[in-house]
Amino acid sequence: MNVEQFRKAGYQAIDRICDHYYSLQNKAVVPSVQPGYLKPLIPSAPPESGEDFQIIADDYQRLIVPGLAYWQHPSFFAYFPIASTFEGILGDLYASSVANPVFTWASGPACSELEAIVMDWAAKLLGLAPGFMHESGIGGGAIQSTASESAMIAIVAARASYQRSYPDTKLEDLVIYVTSQTHSLGIKAGMVLGLAVRVLDVHPDDNYSLRGDTLSNALEQDAGAGKKPFILIATVGTTSSGAIDNVREIKEVVKDHPYLRIHVDAAWAGVAFSCPEYREMGYLAEINDVADSFCTNFHKWGLVNLEASALWVKNRKYLTEALDVTPPYMRTKQGDNDRTLDLRNWHLALSRRFRSLKLWFVLRSFGVKGFQQHIRKSIGLNNLFVNLVKQSDIIEILVPPSLGLTVFRVKPPSQHRDNLESLNALNTDFFSRLSARDDIYLTQTLLDGVVCIRLAVGAVQTEESHIRNAFGIVVKEATLAIDEWKQRPVQSAL
Ligand SMILES: *Cc1c(COP(=O)(O)O)cnc(C)c1O
Repeated sequence: MNVEQFRKAGYQAIDRICDHYYSLQNKAVVPSVQPGYLKPLIPSAPPESGEDFQIIADDYQRLIVPGLAYWQHPSFFAYFPIASTFEGILGDLYASSVANPVFTWASGPACSELEAIVMDWAAKLLGLAPGFMHESGIGGGAIQSTASESAMIAIVAARASYQRSYPDTKLEDLVIYVTSQTHSLGIKAGMVLGLAVRVLDVHPDDNYSLRGDTLSNALEQDAGAGKKPFILIATVGTTSSGAIDNVREIKEVVKDHPYLRIHVDAAWAGVAFSCPEYREMGYLAEINDVADSFCTNFHKWGLVNLEASALWVKNRKYLTEALDVTPPYMRTKQGDNDRTLDLRNWHLALSRRFRSLKLWFVLRSFGVKGFQQHIRKSIGLNNLFVNLVKQSDIIEILVPPSLGLTVFRVKPPSQHRDNLESLNALNTDFFSRLSARDDIYLTQTLLDGVVCIRLAVGAVQTEESHIRNAFGIVVKEATLAIDEWKQRPVQSAL
C-alpha cells in the first residue's frame, strides 16, 4: 500500500467507523456467534500473494464486526465500561503512525516528555498529592497496559524495597496481602512471582470493606509466625460490588508497620476522584498520605481506549531500583545522567506504545469539566436505576450502590425468603434469561454465597431511555423467572 492508497483506505475506514457509531444503538449488544465460528470462514494459512486491501477491509466488516461484543453500546452494563472516545481513537491512530518504542528517553523524546506531563495533568484531575507528580522531582507516574500489570509492578517494587531493607529475608517468608474481594490480579501476581498471598476476610456487615482490625490481627499473627507481609493491595471500588477498603483505618494500622507498602487499586472507580464530591468516600486524603502507589484505568470509565492504566508512585526510584537493567546498547548520555528518565525502567517490558497521546487528546478535548460531566452523568443514571429498583416489589438491592454500579437480585416471594439455595437457583435462572437476550449485557457475581447481578453504567452513549429500558427488561425477566419458579415443587424450600 502506498501513501495515496492509504489515504483512500483511511478515509473509508473513518467513514465506516462513523457509520458503526451511528447505528450502534440499533444493533445487538452481544453477537449471536458460537465458539469456532470464524475458523471455517478464514483460510488456514496466509495468502501466497498479497490481496487487494478493499477485499481485506470488506472482510473485516463481513466477518469480524458481527463477532464483536459492543462495549460502547448504550445498553452495555456488564463488567465495567470501556468508555472509549473518538479523541482516544485518534490518539491511537497518530501513535501507531509514528510507532516509537520509547524505551529510552532518546528513542522517543516527545513520547517520554508528554507522558510525564500528561500523568501530572491526570494526577491534578484526580486530586492526587503533589508527591505523586513528576513536578515533585521525586514521584511520578507512567501509563501501563493494565491494572494487573500496574499491581505486578507495585509488588515487584515493594519486594525489592523490602529486600534492600532486610537483605536476609527468605523469599518463602514474604507475603502479599489482599482481601477476598480484591481483583484476581493479587492472586495472579503471587502465582507469577512465586510469592505467598494471604487473603484477608471482609464481611457483608462492612459492605465488604477491609477494616483496620482485620489487618492488624493478620500482621500480628504473621509476625508471630515469622512471615513477612510486605505489601497490601487495597481496593477502591471492587469488581464484584464496588466496595471501598477503609483506608482511614489502614493508615492507622500501618503507622506501627511502616515496612508494609500500600498499593491502591482503583482500576474502575479511581476516575471518579475527578469529581471532588467523591473524594471523601474513596478516602483520597488518606490515600494521598499513606499509599506508595496508586492505579486507575483511564481505559475503563475514563474515556480513553485500551490500554491506559495510570500508575503513580511517590518515589520513582522505588520503580527504577527494582526494574532497571541497562545493557550497553541501551546506554545513553541522558539515561546515564538520570535513570528515571527512561520509561523502560517504569514498566515490565522494554518497548511500549505511545499511550500518553490519547490521554492528552481526551483531557484537552473534554477538559476537567467535560470529564466530570461524564462521570456525574453515569452516576446519575445509575441512581435512576436504583430508584426504579427501590419502587419494585420483585427486585432488591443487595449492597449500597457504588458510583455507577448496582448489585441486585430477584426478591423472592415471602414464604421462600430464608432458603438461600432455592433463592440462588431462582436468581441463576433469572440471570440465564437476561444473558439469553442480545439487547442488554449484564454480569452476575457471588457475594457471600448469594447469587446476584451487576449493572455498571458508564458508556458514553447511555441515556435515561436506555436505563428505563434496562429496568423494563429486568422486571420482565424477573417476573417470568418467578412464575416458573412458583410452579416448581416447593420441597427445596422446606
Ligand atoms: C478491571 C479491574 C482490574 C483489572 O483490570 P485490567 O486493567 O484488565 O488488568 C483490577 N482491579 C479492579 C478493581 C478492576 O475493576
